[in-house]
Amino acid sequence: MTETHSVLNQSTPLVDYNMFTSDSVLSDLIQRYEAAWARDRLSNFGQFAGSSEAIELALQANGNEPVLHTHNRFGERIDEVEFHPAYHKLMSAAIAHGIHNLPWQNERDGAHVARAALLFMSFQNEAGHCCPISMTYAAVPTLRKQADLAAIWVPLIRSNSYDSSFRPATAKTGITIGMGMTEKQGGSDIRANTTQARALADSGGGKPYLLTGHKWFCSAPMSDAFLILAQTAKGISCFLVPRWKPDGTMNTLRIQRLKDKLGNRSNASSEIEFVDAFGWLVSEEGRGVPTLIEMVSYTRLDCMIGAAALMRQAVLQAIHHARQRSAFGKRLVDQPLMVNVLADLALEAEAACRMAMRVARSYDQAGKSAAEAAFKRIASAVSKYWICKRAPMQVAEALECFGGNGYVEEGPMPRLFRESPLLGIWEGSGNVICLDVLRAVSKEPESLDIFISEVEKSRGYSKQYDNFVAALKREIKALKKNAASKDAVVAAGREQDARRLVERMALALQAALMIEQSPGTAADAFIASRIARSGGFAFGTLPKTLNLRSLVDRAYLGEADK
Ligand SMILES: Cc1cc2nc3c(=O)[nH]c(=O)nc-3n(C[C@H](O)[C@H](O)[C@H](O)COP(=O)(O)OP(=O)(O)OC[C@H]3O[C@@H](n4cnc5c(N)ncnc54)[C@H](O)[C@@H]3O)c2cc1C
Repeated sequence: MTETHSVLNQSTPLVDYNMFTSDSVLSDLIQRYEAAWARDRLSNFGQFAGSSEAIELALQANGNEPVLHTHNRFGERIDEVEFHPAYHKLMSAAIAHGIHNLPWQNERDGAHVARAALLFMSFQNEAGHCCPISMTYAAVPTLRKQADLAAIWVPLIRSNSYDSSFRPATAKTGITIGMGMTEKQGGSDIRANTTQARALADSGGGKPYLLTGHKWFCSAPMSDAFLILAQTAKGISCFLVPRWKPDGTMNTLRIQRLKDKLGNRSNASSEIEFVDAFGWLVSEEGRGVPTLIEMVSYTRLDCMIGAAALMRQAVLQAIHHARQRSAFGKRLVDQPLMVNVLADLALEAEAACRMAMRVARSYDQAGKSAAEAAFKRIASAVSKYWICKRAPMQVAEALECFGGNGYVEEGPMPRLFRESPLLGIWEGSGNVICLDVLRAVSKEPESLDIFISEVEKSRGYSKQYDNFVAALKREIKALKKNAASKDAVVAAGREQDARRLVERMALALQAALMIEQSPGTAADAFIASRIARSGGFAFGTLPKTLNLRSLVDRAYLGEADK
């Protein structure tokens, strides 16, 4: 406060609310997808994630970035990254709540959904630490491809204790796992990896190898082990590379430097060199891609949950601000045009959350139902593409709702904005994901049929939606027919059209879920703007005939948290 004026018309920080109980969409999804048994855990974590304490930890973890120490004072290599205590506290809370292991500890129905909901809240609070949490969760299906390794490492992942000490994994009370695929010369094209591996003695699954080469991006370098791709005589293979060798000495993983990144700054992302580094082969030589793709399928799920979470947090912050800030004689939330913008942002966030959780449901069901396994295959690619693609636009518009305050680092929006493009890059960038959908058309065409039958379940609510689905069905039928064609021009045409196809599939699935789960104003607004495309390209172009204010109010905190 200066002597010249009083501070008026500024909003208050959004703190001390329960991120779970205040989110009506998330609560509904937990019930719908058989995860209601986890309500207490979710509410407990929701209370933490929305607390002033957790919000302060997030600020500190990002304001005090990790520091790499390559050598000790005697000139010996130590390759240690030092994190701020706030980062460790966030890791500790996430691990105590099982965000890294819930479905592997408690394999009951709904566990992937419950865990997805926990991650959804964790990401809203602080995205950087969610990276090692996600990789640890996702490593288990790949580790299980090598039973002898899984027998040692999976029980360590099942622990809910966070142990940040730097010593051999088997001496610790709990561990985290990272992964390394991306090299300088190619990330998406992992078959171009040049890191070499040779067997120490006998070759084969579970046997020791020595790896020499590099990884250009390797996040969370203080993980206890990494799933790493490297070349053997039989091609790309997958290895589990620990930070410490079985003889108790440090493994020869040299952390060269940490990346100076746009966002995700609490998380260390490193460049690593392997100098005859020790690792065990997971599965068979030459099977690296299908082995690691198991892990990637789970981290892709987390990308969509993360992007949906950023959108939820962004719109919640925007509504909170607009309820308090006045301009031209009215609160912003009462200005008709702002209502349209906020309603549209809320709609995008809701559709993303419903889509991500529907996909998480398929992870719970895939082992029991062939149809769900096929749906998981195709829907995870389609949803990863679309939710991650929408996040930066949605978050940018939410930031603008704050006016100039949205652009200032003391507030919550710049960090959300900087996180928002990352999920699209991770685990398959947009084009790569769309090409993966095309691959499914030719290699697993039944997954497309399952996808269509899923969206057809919502027919009969809206003529526009029915027409949209019918056209999509025709398009996919034609695509399947010419999928086998070797004609280069036809193939190039298919590729050039892939984003258009995947976008339409994504919109069909989101609309189907909105019709099924949120009929009335929300579904009608979604269909009008995204299916019938009656509005414009920017957010805030929903039809004025709908009760848009109701969409804003239901997206804000529940009564108990206001
Ligand atoms: C903060 C951060 C942390 C990361 N952490 C890790 C990590 O821990 N481990 C790890 O392995 N990697 C990590 N990555 C790397 C990330 O997974 C890769 O950057 C990503 O997979 C893309 O690979 P690339 O950077 O080599 O880009 P490229 O493969 O060169 O792709 C560049 C562009 O070309 C497009 N493209 C590629 N192929 C085609 C095609 N056939 N047709 C049309 N377009 C195409 C892509 O969609 C992309 O837009 C991290 C990245 C970041 C930013």
